[in-house]
Amino acid sequence: MVTLSGKTWVVEQRRFAADPHLETCFTLANGYMGVRGTFEEMYTGEETGTYVAGVFDKSEAQVTELVNLPFFFGLRLYANGVRLDATECTVLDFYRALDMKQALLYKMYRLQDKNGNITKIEGYRYLSQQDRRLAGIRYEVTAENYSGSVTVESFTDGTTVNSMKRPQEKVKHYTVRKIEPLPTQGMYLEAATRDLDYRVGIASVVRVERGGENAVIGRRRRAFGEQAVESVDIELTEGQAVAVEKYVAVVHSRQVEKDRLQAEAEQALNRFTAMGIGQELEGSIRKYSLLWRGMDIEVDGDEEAEQALRFNLFHLMNCANPEDERVSIAAKGLHGEGYKGHVFWDTEIFMIPFFVYTYPQAARSMLMYRYHLLDAARTNARTGGYLGARYPWESADSGLEETPRWGFDYKGNRVRIWTGDIEYHITADVAYAIWQYYRATGDEEFFLNYGAEMFLETARFWSSRGEYNAELDRYEINEVIGPDEFHEHFDNNLYTNYLARWNLTKALEILDWLKTEHRGAHDRLVSNIGLTEQELVKWRDVAEKMYVPIGEGEPLLEQHEGYFNLIDKVITEYDENNMPVWPEGVNTVALNNYTLIKQADIIQLLHMFGEEFDLGTKKKNFEYYERRTMHKSSLSPGIYCIMGLVVGDFSKAYAYLMRTAKVDLADNQGNTAQGLHAASTGGTWQAAVNGFGGMRMEQGGGIGFAPTWLPKHWKQFSYRIQWKGQLIQAAVTQNEIRLRLVDGEGPLEVYVYGEPHVLKQDHEVRVPVQFAAR
Ligand code: BGC
Repeated sequence: MVTLSGKTWVVEQRRFAADPHLETCFTLANGYMGVRGTFEEMYTGEETGTYVAGVFDKSEAQVTELVNLPFFFGLRLYANGVRLDATECTVLDFYRALDMKQALLYKMYRLQDKNGNITKIEGYRYLSQQDRRLAGIRYEVTAENYSGSVTVESFTDGTTVNSMKRPQEKVKHYTVRKIEPLPTQGMYLEAATRDLDYRVGIASVVRVERGGENAVIGRRRRAFGEQAVESVDIELTEGQAVAVEKYVAVVHSRQVEKDRLQAEAEQALNRFTAMGIGQELEGSIRKYSLLWRGMDIEVDGDEEAEQALRFNLFHLMNCANPEDERVSIAAKGLHGEGYKGHVFWDTEIFMIPFFVYTYPQAARSMLMYRYHLLDAARTNARTGGYLGARYPWESADSGLEETPRWGFDYKGNRVRIWTGDIEYHITADVAYAIWQYYRATGDEEFFLNYGAEMFLETARFWSSRGEYNAELDRYEINEVIGPDEFHEHFDNNLYTNYLARWNLTKALEILDWLKTEHRGAHDRLVSNIGLTEQELVKWRDVAEKMYVPIGEGEPLLEQHEGYFNLIDKVITEYDENNMPVWPEGVNTVALNNYTLIKQADIIQLLHMFGEEFDLGTKKKNFEYYERRTMHKSSLSPGIYCIMGLVVGDFSKAYAYLMRTAKVDLADNQGNTAQGLHAASTGGTWQAAVNGFGGMRMEQGGGIGFAPTWLPKHWKQFSYRIQWKGQLIQAAVTQNEIRLRLVDGEGPLEVYVYGEPHVLKQDHEVRVPVQFAAR
């Protein structure tokens, strides 16, 4: 049996309940698939969710969505016609825990049936990080005060649907094509999505052993409606434990030919049983320990924060699969159906930074997802009458725009959703992420073959999206939605225009660099995308004359044209979580009229381009916008946490950190049931590392460390990041910052409070903190 890891590695449930919030928190995922933390018994009221990354379907739904596939963890025990579960027995003891170090979901029940028989069930389930197709359950079952027959029913349930709790939207996206016993062992179920006929094959087998010997007396395998069922009979002897194990292998037709699917699933299953769950799990845990080695964050002096931080790192890491370039991370991860499994700017701006610095291969594969959909982005641009490539605001498998056209406002009225039409900044956000990745890794192979092409095509989009205003001799980007989605159809959102200009300027620089350093790659690229000199003249003109109004001195930046003329509302009240309360008199269905904003917008810009703005500007804008930001998106608090720390307003930094770190643990947006707030997990990492850890980009592109403050009760805050292929450990205390190389030989130049230092093997850089300096 496993031993659970220490306190800050686990999330616990101490009382039995079907709880949709915990189903999300207890989701296991490995980038290839995800299974929500519902019980194996499938209790009424639970929202079962089983997803395979990249398996989408539309059918009669409003938009394409990630398919809720058959639930393969089904397992029930019966004794004398009674189900040994929490509905038919009295629960004497109950405990569940997500062990984040070992990546397993532990469960312990002691159940008493109506005859007084007490059964203890204790064990775990997991998804493998070593072979992502595999999933297993292992329970020890003990009859504590009786001996008798028990039947173990193992099933894969093919009745699952999307939106099961919303009758108007409920859709079953697949049909069960096949249920049959496998020639060697176990059962096979194959599902086929309705539109594109993606196939998912699930092979499973149940085993029961006592002292290493087979304990199964009878076995039946059959289809029961849309369930593949295998049930086995065993005899329990008082006080003696048996081990019930379920082995599962999941394969899909995005990776395996349809006619080989079943054989592949069977083979994977047989290899898995030959190895045994215990041994496979060990391999998976070894993989996790490598991942943890590169990403863990420790907070000496604050167990609550350390546990919450690990929770975010764990779930975000679980969404990545560097082996599959055809998928990226959805706004709700593989943890639920919110936002339909779609990919937003959340990935590039909030999540990818985490991967760039902790698991660059995963960051690369997410960028490759965008590369594989570059043609679709070209189509999107063309459809709107533009050049180049326009990435969709919401993306699924085709790369075409997937944003629903209709939704609901804060009062429940049906409203048109405009983000898919006019929230353009995503296109520059993709370019930004490419640049971040390249800058931190120096991965030229990626940049020359894929990154540069996306960069140029996104720049090209902006060259055509800029509207020339002859009267004012400037280019404008009108009728847009910026990051702050309270304001729609406004002109010249500064964030958007700034990024558009940056995308163009950088593209021109990249072209020059390619021309001198990589002539062959340059010529191929230019000819492949048919870029002409004449076009470049236009690019330069748009870049030069893009309307980016940033005044002199330490300016207060206007979020969009006319923003300062709106009815000014300032937040004066905060709720018990220290979060803003709507100011008096605000009509929440007419938010275009006020200066209140949904989430970081100007502050987002100042964070992303920190090295291009001075401290005074950051300070002034933080003071202004902080009092007008409602944080109605979970993307926002983490960014304000960072900026508060940068400008020396520490009053809310800790509250902002905990707000973002506990979005799902505490369900503080109230909708965790619908899935993980994946962007917030990335925002949490940024708040920790960029915020408290002070990690930042220096002018000229180097990496720097300039922590400004730690909460008084933090003795030491430490984290790890990769820079140019070397792993750096940073530890900040109330007195000093210490940096050393964990992997890599150096020398590596880093900046501490702007001063250069060199990291070498076996040499620690120690610098006194400058907490008072700001
Ligand atoms: C936010 C967007 C975000 C989306 C998906 C919205 O509420 O305003 O910035 O991309 O949620 O997480």
